[in-house]
Amino acid sequence: MGPPGAGKGTQSKTLVDTLSIIQISTGEILRDAVNSETSLGLEAKQYLTQGNLVPDDLVIKIIEERIIHSDCKNGFILDGFPRTVEQAIALEKILSDNGRKLDSVIFIDVPEKELITRLLKRAEIENRVDDNLATIKNRLDVFKKKLEALLEYYKQKGLLKFVDGTGGSDDVSKRIFKVLGK
Ligand code: AMP
Repeated sequence: MGPPGAGKGTQSKTLVDTLSIIQISTGEILRDAVNSETSLGLEAKQYLTQGNLVPDDLVIKIIEERIIHSDCKNGFILDGFPRTVEQAIALEKILSDNGRKLDSVIFIDVPEKELITRLLKRAEIENRVDDNLATIKNRLDVFKKKLEALLEYYKQKGLLKFVDGTGGSDDVSKRIFKVLGK
């Protein structure tokens, strides 16, 4: 977990390479769906382009269908999911129905000013539908609105681990491995 621009995608990829697990990014799945104009993409497009959250039932369904694939057998890192308590509750049920459980919830923490700088830079490099100043500000607001309840949810469960997401990505990876005890 972490705000837009915290480095969730980058750090997930490092974990994938090191731990031989796979990454499931709801944002990536949704962007692909929008770009290839599937029915999921058509449904999700307006939310993505405005920087709003896609309805819970859509993303929950994505996760439900994805984690039963055989490539998830050794484990997976969920990148950008859950983002609401409703999604977290649904995730718990999906996992337990499949005989799985969450090991850790990592929150990558980065100050807002740096996030905006990073996201604007990314907008120049990648051609993401949602990296422009107005959308970025909305995504950060949307994120903040849901954050406290979600953090509280995982704090109660004793799963939450905070990681300082500032500095170079290698430094952040080291911090993540440390909190994971790897
Ligand atoms: P991300 O790449 O994780 O920053 O996600 C990009 C966009 O995809 C978000 O701004 C949302 O519109 C949508 N999205 C990704 N994950 C979720 C989720 N778990 N719940 C709702 N919307 C999501």
